[in-house]
Amino acid sequence: MLSDRIQRLNPSATLELANKARRLRRDGGDVVALSVGEPDFPTPGFIRDAAADALDRGETGYTDTAGLWELREAIAEKLGRDNSIRTAPENVLVTPGAKFGIFLAFQTLMNEGETVVLFDPAWVSFEAMAEITGAEVRRCPLDSEMLPDEETFKEAVEGASLVVLNSPCNPTGAVYPERLTRSLVETAVDAGAIVLSDEVYEKIIYDGRHFSPASEFDEVVTINGFSKAYSMTGWRLGYVHADPKIVERMSRLQSHSATCANSFAQHGALAALVSGERGEAAISEMVRSFRKRRDYLVDALNGVQGMRCVEPKGAFYAFPSFDLEMGSFELSNRLLERGVAATPGAAFGPGGEGHLRLSYAVSEDRLGTAVDRISSAFEELSE
Ligand code: GLU
Repeated sequence: MLSDRIQRLNPSATLELANKARRLRRDGGDVVALSVGEPDFPTPGFIRDAAADALDRGETGYTDTAGLWELREAIAEKLGRDNSIRTAPENVLVTPGAKFGIFLAFQTLMNEGETVVLFDPAWVSFEAMAEITGAEVRRCPLDSEMLPDEETFKEAVEGASLVVLNSPCNPTGAVYPERLTRSLVETAVDAGAIVLSDEVYEKIIYDGRHFSPASEFDEVVTINGFSKAYSMTGWRLGYVHADPKIVERMSRLQSHSATCANSFAQHGALAALVSGERGEAAISEMVRSFRKRRDYLVDALNGVQGMRCVEPKGAFYAFPSFDLEMGSFELSNRLLERGVAATPGAAFGPGGEGHLRLSYAVSEDRLGTAVDRISSAFEELSE
């Protein structure tokens, strides 16, 4: 017998499309993949060297379940330095990817039948992870600027156990103003809910400033990782910051599942955090490129007949709306036939229908090709 629970689960739309694009390319097709969100830069050399040195030294065994102590210390320091979260290594759990940290958090924080509030749209895997725990998902619509409305949120959070915040946001690129985040967390805490704050895009901001609510509220579980800031997606390395009691429970679950995060990848991550200026310089260079690509793409998409794109303030996703006689899944299929992989907006929730998510973490040259293809597809499809 197969599990009904897993049977009901859809595959991750972002990863499924990325796999499809790779398969098409393997078969000789020319596809511009704007589907999955991953920086197209190599991991900075000094991080690679630190991991290679660890391999050469024979650091190839398990680490502590919760991660290398030195790395947990460095993460606690980073949280103090960058996020004004005064904390200790005991509050930190190192996980194989931020995504696995989110998975552990859902498993640890939710009981069957309890309610999770997700904004609509929200990243594809939040809903799936909630469903795996048997929790109910309540969607809270966003306003026209893709930001949560405080009054609507107040109603949505009633009786909920968990609220997921994600700024900078995947898929919209919105960056929540500090005042808004504070107000949402206050409302959630008053309603008795815990807040899961996914901050994996914190370093990729063009306008505005990142605010970590755990700097002011104890009821926040913070998720972050190395994939986006240091272009380390394939290393699978993330972390969770929470009350030590929650960390201990998540660690129990990690001890029965992944065991621990990859040992030499953790040494690379440690180098990233203790590198001071070097790490920050690598991030700034990447963000400069993303900004240039964002400016180009948003402008170009607004020039396509039938498309409208609000300027994203962070992350590396454009989330344009479109005006065609079809849904976003169909449009995504049509674009794939024409050599562009774009994630359907509806994959992020019903509120994403009528949109596409385009990752601009690809070269300007490839972005140009994608825009040409999208533009001629729109001409054809609107006839
Ligand atoms: N978070 C990235 C995205 O949305 C990576 C893929 C995934 O895990 O969904 O594209």
